[in-house]
Amino acid sequence: MTSRIIFLGPPGAGKGTQASLLAEFGKIPHISTGDILRQAIVDQTELGQKAQSYMDQGELVPDDLILDLIRDRLSHSDTHNGWILDGFPRNVSQASFLDQLLRELAQECDYVINLEVPDEVLIERLLARGRKDDNHDTIARRLEVYRDLTAPVIDYYQGKGQLHSVNGNQQLEDVTQSLQNILKA
Ligand code: ADP
Repeated sequence: MTSRIIFLGPPGAGKGTQASLLAEFGKIPHISTGDILRQAIVDQTELGQKAQSYMDQGELVPDDLILDLIRDRLSHSDTHNGWILDGFPRNVSQASFLDQLLRELAQECDYVINLEVPDEVLIERLLARGRKDDNHDTIARRLEVYRDLTAPVIDYYQGKGQLHSVNGNQQLEDVTQSLQNILKA
C-alpha cells in the first residue's frame, strides 16, 4: 500500500489513535506534530523551549517553527511508501505550504480524512485523557483555535474534492473499520 493520508479533526477526535493503527497496518510512518513537539520539550531542544508556552496555553505553535520540521520529516527516506500526517496542517497557511512542499517532493496526498466528533464528547474524552494540556481552560482554548483556524482547512480540502468525513463518535474498532473501507475503496 502506498498511501499518503492527512488526518483532520478536533483535539480528542481520535486522530492519534487511528493514525497509529493505520500506520502499523500500512507499514508507513505516523507523523504527529504534537508528538514531535512534546518529544522536543522532553529533550529540551531549542524547538521544545520555544514551543512549550504556546502548547501549555492551547495556542498554535507559530508556523515558522513547524514548517521546517515538516519539510525535514517528509524528506526522510522512510516516507517513500507513504505517510500519515496527524496534527498538520492546522491552518490554511500550513495547508498551502504543504501543497507547495508536496509539489517539490513530487508526492501527492491520496486521502484527507476528517474525523467528526461532537464538542461535548471531545471535552469528556480530553478530561479523561489527562495530558498536561488537558485541563478545562486549555481545552476550551484549543477547541476555539480549532474552530477559528483549523476548521477552514476542512473547507480547503473539500474545495479540492479530496475530503472524506468519518464519524469518530463510534467504538474505536468501528472507526478503524470505517477508515479501512475508505482506504480500500
Ligand atoms: P490535540 O489533537 O489534542 O490537539 P496534538 O498533539 O495534535 O493534540 O497537539 C498538541 C499541541 O501541539 C497543540 O495544541 C499545538 O499547541 C501544538 N501543535 C501541534 N501541531 C501543530 C501545528 N501543526 N501547528 C501549530 N501548533 C501545533
